Amino acid sequence: MFILPAKSWQCIWATTKMRPYVANLNVFHQDIPKLPMGRYAHIIVLRETNSFALFQTDGELNICRVSLGRKEQAPVTRIVLFKRKQSTPERLTGRELLRRYGMVDNCEYNSEKFCKRCPDCIYYGFAIGDKGSERSKVLVDSAFSITGYDMSHQQFTFNAPFENGTMSEAGKMKTALGEQDYVLPQVYFPSMVTIKDPTEAEFVYVLNNILRTRRYGAQNTRTGTVENLITGIVFSDGEIFSNLELTQAVYDSLPQEQRLKTPLQRAAVLEGADTAP
Ligand SMILES: [Zn+2]
Repeated sequence: MFILPAKSWQCIWATTKMRPYVANLNVFHQDIPKLPMGRYAHIIVLRETNSFALFQTDGELNICRVSLGRKEQAPVTRIVLFKRKQSTPERLTGRELLRRYGMVDNCEYNSEKFCKRCPDCIYYGFAIGDKGSERSKVLVDSAFSITGYDMSHQQFTFNAPFENGTMSEAGKMKTALGEQDYVLPQVYFPSMVTIKDPTEAEFVYVLNNILRTRRYGAQNTRTGTVENLITGIVFSDGEIFSNLELTQAVYDSLPQEQRLKTPLQRAAVLEGADTAP
């Protein structure tokens, strides 16, 4: 197992210096094996909100009560970014590119018409009722904010003014539409995308999807811009740590005076993500 710091990884891969190095390590399969062969590639991502995001179900932000750190055991409520809310936008990014370059034509996402042949179907899997399914080779789990819910969200009240731009017309007042909690900008969600028994093409496809996807959360809104920072890539013969362990380890690594601040300093979080595991 070895870990590469993110910045160098992206550059080195691009300049192809890394490719022969990785090839020598025998971490990729030539073809996708029929049975699990115990090769894993873990892409470690720090997901940073760049605007007001909605990671929610039924109108409420998803939250969960867990320990602050691995060492610091006091409880805290954290915002949760569910696994499907990470993998779905990344899949859609890849599918958009496949269509853009004419590499897929008749494949409909989440329908009876999954084609079973394109990179998206083969790598990320599909299920077509009783007509067949393919397990995903790309594994994603729910991610937890480093900072607590209290300091990572803000509530907004929404009004729907009349066309004249005010809240009253002909003596009638409009009432506010409601309230909505948003995740603040610069909240960090450490997360890991694991590829089981990857080929090089599969690895590059999945990495590219992560690097290009910028919008997560509620689909019917323009908010939710997220920047994905790759902080490490691990090739191993099994599973490593969980997303929750990673969040807690990064929390433990933050200097005491940093822990109570929103936003956290990106440099401190990146350093934590580099050293914590
Ligand atoms: Zn397909």
